[in-house]
Amino acid sequence: MISLYTADYVVTQNDARDIIRNAAVAVEDGRILSVGHTDLLEILFPECRRVDLGHAVIMPGLINAHTHVSMSLLRGYSDDKALMDWLTQDIFPAEAKLTPELVELGAMFSLAEMIRTGTTAFYDMYMHQRSVFRAADKLGMRAVMGESVTQFFPSLTCKDAEAYFDLVRVQADEWKGHPRIRQAILPHAPYTTNPELLTKCRALADETQSLFGMHLAETESETQTCLQNFGMRPIPYCESLGLLQPDSTFFHVVHADERDMELLNEGRCAVVHNPASNMKLASGVAPIGAMLRYRIPVALGTDGPASNNAQNMVREMYMASLLQKVQNLDSTACPAQLALDMATRGGSDALHEPLIGTLEPGMKADFIALDLTTPNMQPVHNIVSNIVYAATGLENKLTVVDGQELYRDGKFLTCDYEALCAEMKAIHGWEKK
Ligand SMILES: [Zn+2]
Repeated sequence: MISLYTADYVVTQNDARDIIRNAAVAVEDGRILSVGHTDLLEILFPECRRVDLGHAVIMPGLINAHTHVSMSLLRGYSDDKALMDWLTQDIFPAEAKLTPELVELGAMFSLAEMIRTGTTAFYDMYMHQRSVFRAADKLGMRAVMGESVTQFFPSLTCKDAEAYFDLVRVQADEWKGHPRIRQAILPHAPYTTNPELLTKCRALADETQSLFGMHLAETESETQTCLQNFGMRPIPYCESLGLLQPDSTFFHVVHADERDMELLNEGRCAVVHNPASNMKLASGVAPIGAMLRYRIPVALGTDGPASNNAQNMVREMYMASLLQKVQNLDSTACPAQLALDMATRGGSDALHEPLIGTLEPGMKADFIALDLTTPNMQPVHNIVSNIVYAATGLENKLTVVDGQELYRDGKFLTCDYEALCAEMKAIHGWEKK
């Protein structure tokens, strides 16, 4: 059955960045059949299910290209501390108490927040990751994810590196061929791993046909540690280990010089910018303009809910744009269209999923619809401006992934949200038990 979604605007994000008035999106079997004027599509598809969204804008679903969704359990648990104090005094001791059940509940909450605020796909790394795979499968989201690994064993999930490699091989079989979920091999960062582990992780990505990702060049102290230990900055260090490959995505990349960016370009790697996390943890400001000049694909991510503290990509677009303007003392830096591009087309690059990020025939049917009747969304002089600078995320009234409606008009359609809230209330204080 063909579904025809109609609204006052469709923002396609295609190569020409076409914006269509009085427009419709036709969907069948999880794919977009056609995008165009409502009058025309009504003639082309007379026998269809109609969903009229009224004064709204249909647009590609936002893509959260770096997060740790289960950390919603630690939202507001520790803020306003120096990064290492925050990690060692508060976050790591609490994480030591995590169970697979808690990780799944935390993931469900973040997924609900993303579905509510217009995100359709995400790239996640954490521990007890099998629980997050289950949450994404249940709620119907698209995701790339995997178990994060460091050189410190035993970890919460694995007693040693061999156990980690076995787990990854088993999970690769479990999720092989899934229509929405793909595994990645995810060493945590250069400063929590060693060359041997990183090389083995890269080989494991090839062996299991998984993607590869890592936190990289996040802080100045990471650069200094890498220089001391290996005589190289973090990005040349990764290059020396063969980690800069076209299936690789690096999270943060705040501290990158010209040579670093040349290497990322030569490796055809994607980068994920996390403006809120970088500001909150005072990591610095990523050189987005320079990376784009080097033709490095740049996506946007929220990072985890303990360092953001939301999973709301509408907020992230706003912050990405404003941060570049103030950093460069240039109000033309990172215009609204670029912020939207990073959150859609850039996300497609970072998740290595070419069939998402735009609304065009043949693409996967991942889209959202923002209500334009709220006071902050009127008038519409420039729809992209309203999306990036005026929206809050709560205008979203429809979230569709792979053609399936996950949220519509205030209702979650793939989860019992009230039951989730009751569970969250019931586990209060888990980190102290
Ligand atoms: Zn992170």
